[in-house]
This record gives sequence, structure tokens and C-alpha cells, in this order.
Amino acid sequence: MLEPHETWKLIQEHHLPTLSELESRLLAASVAGWRAPAIARRLFRDERQTRKDLARLEDLVCVPVGAERNVALLAWWLGYHRDCSRRCAAAAQEMIETDTVFPPENTPATG
Ligand SMILES: [Zn+2]
Repeated sequence: MLEPHETWKLIQEHHLPTLSELESRLLAASVAGWRAPAIARRLFRDERQTRKDLARLEDLVCVPVGAERNVALLAWWLGYHRDCSRRCAAAAQEMIETDTVFPPENTPATG
């Protein structure tokens, strides 16, 4: 386990500019407080697969900074990379701000 200031520095330096649309959607839903069952339902996806996708996304952020999976770190990461020049968390932030994290009811999501 790293010291907090070390994690903070790594979080700032850890860019993920190639998140897919689905990963951005999961990131947005997760940091907005949604859990896997509800996310799966709103995205018309399998719950088990959604849990796997969420775990993988948390690994993308947490493992490189030496932390265990957790949503708080995702939110912390998003805060630093929402306006990142590499557009890391830009799509997720935009989905939250424009209320497009989830597709309109009865419209299956793509990506
Ligand atoms: Zn970034």
C-alpha cells in the first residue's frame, strides 16, 4: 500500500485515453452511485457480465496506482481526468452532465 500522497501523484499521472463508450458509461454510472444490478438493467445487459466489466474498469484505474478495487478511487480519478488533454474521463463526465449515461427507456445501448 502506497502512502496517500504517492497514490494521489500516481492518480494524476495515470491516463486512460482509450476508454470505450461502454467503459465511459460504466465509469459514469459507477461514480454517480449506481451498483451493478441497476446498471445492468438500465443498459439492457447481463448482470454477471456487467459485474465483470465494472471489475475490469476498476482494475484499469486501481491496479496501476497500487490500490485495491474501489469506486472511490474511480471518482477521484475521474475528477482529475475529466478535463485532461488526453480526454481520459471526458466522455464519462459529459454523459453525466448531459444526462446520457443511460439510453432512453426501451432503447438498448451500444458499445
Ligand atoms: Zn488523463
